[in-house]
Amino acid sequence: MSEETIFTKIINRDIPADIIYEDDQALAFKDVNPQAPFHCLIIPKEPIATANDINENNSAVVGHLYVIAAKLAAEHNFAEDGYRLVMNCNEYGGQSVYHIHLHVLAGKQMGWPPYTDKPKQA
Ligand code: AMP
Repeated sequence: MSEETIFTKIINRDIPADIIYEDDQALAFKDVNPQAPFHCLIIPKEPIATANDINENNSAVVGHLYVIAAKLAAEHNFAEDGYRLVMNCNEYGGQSVYHIHLHVLAGKQMGWPPYTDKPKQA
């Protein structure tokens, strides 16, 4: 079992969030610091700390997160234009909350590549 993060508090309604989807396995809510006109996070209710912790025993819910993303894309009318799905992992991936989450970013043309050559701070 992973350590509790702010996302567990959102699942348990200990802190507020703009929840846009919920079922028995997962929750989706608007990102508090949106990086696109539409930016939500889809999380499993059972915490998995990072993408490194996805395995044969817990991977079904990860597929489910993508099913929810496709549903939200259809519901919010950005399926055809397109969107970006991102799961950041650990420091170099830019992960800040250690409870896996699928970012859904839509409503603008996304850029690529996502990294900079700026050296890592010592
Ligand atoms: P990451 O950096 O990939 O771990 O993404 C974590 C995301 O969680 C960031 O985009 C944050 O803006 C978002 N976030 C952090 N706290 C909250 C919160 N209380 N409600 C909604 N989004 C949050």
